Amino acid sequence: MSQAANNHQATLLRSVRLTPTDSAEIRQIVLQVNEPAYYFPAGQSIGVSVPGPHPYGNKEYHRFYTLASVRDCEAGAELEIVVRRCFYTDEVSGEEYPGIASNYLCDAQPGSTITLTGPHRSPFVVPADKTSNLLMIGAGTGIAPYRAFLRRIYEQEGDWQGKVRLFYGARTGFDMLYMNDINNDLANYYDQATFQAIQSVGKGYFSDDGEALKRGVEDNAQEIWQLIQDPKTHVYLAGMDRVAAAFDAAMTKTAGADAWQAAKQKLADERRWAELTYD
Ligand SMILES: Cc1cc2nc3c(=O)[nH]c(=O)nc-3n(C[C@H](O)[C@H](O)[C@H](O)COP(=O)(O)OP(=O)(O)OC[C@H]3O[C@@H](n4cnc5c(N)ncnc54)[C@H](O)[C@@H]3O)c2cc1C
Repeated sequence: MSQAANNHQATLLRSVRLTPTDSAEIRQIVLQVNEPAYYFPAGQSIGVSVPGPHPYGNKEYHRFYTLASVRDCEAGAELEIVVRRCFYTDEVSGEEYPGIASNYLCDAQPGSTITLTGPHRSPFVVPADKTSNLLMIGAGTGIAPYRAFLRRIYEQEGDWQGKVRLFYGARTGFDMLYMNDINNDLANYYDQATFQAIQSVGKGYFSDDGEALKRGVEDNAQEIWQLIQDPKTHVYLAGMDRVAAAFDAAMTKTAGADAWQAAKQKLADERRWAELTYD
């Protein structure tokens, strides 16, 4: 289906690299839309349409990015996304190709016009019952939906009584998005009695954020397994596919394949499992 019907023109205001130069490049990109009727709720995704011509005569090239903005975005408000610059290696030729949309966004300069679509609905829903436990798992750009989610829980809903746990993996401490010396806005919630952020970094130069997450989950496996068996727990997963794979591997190791698969199925059947993952 054509995306043209709900296109919005945005101006790129700022583009800042969030990760060190020896890590995968992740940029915070700040956009502004000045249409009066425009409204993007925090935590949802936008689409980005890359200008053509496109390979194989395709009319459109469209990719999704989760809003990392903490607040809902109305006309004139700044809208924030975190974009990982992707490259893919051709298995036959061995050549490396840049991902089209991520490189387009990471190369775009302040003042550029970017065509957006959306908003596109997020699968992450805050449960109505404030005694629910929320288990949030993420790595890399997967931090984006949790910024708005945590604000919603502690600032809009308030008085949250269930346990809220954020497990986040990054290659190094410098790669901890929104939890580092320069930008530490998730620290706003550290004094909430129910909130705990558990950060884990990779071991060694060649580790990645998925491995780091797996280690963090394994180090806290018993608490996580107990939470998962509690019928009040909702599980959220965000980031690249390897986040889901890392969590799966860590839970299989902790609980055994059969018990973990049964628990996961129960969470899905009872609508207590939500994933926002991508390759
Ligand atoms: C709901 C949602 C939210 C998302 N949120 C974010 C976000 O917040 N931040 C973020 O960075 N990303 C996010 N993504 C991922 C994003 O939409 C893009 O998929 C990502 O940026 C890569 O797009 P690209 O155009 O750069 O790469 P593409 O050019 O589209 O390449 C993507 C795919 O094509 C394959 N491919 C391409 N070229 C080759 C080749 N030469 N050889 C082999 N395989 C190849 C790769 O396997 C890869 O799967 C999200 C995705 C979804 C669905």
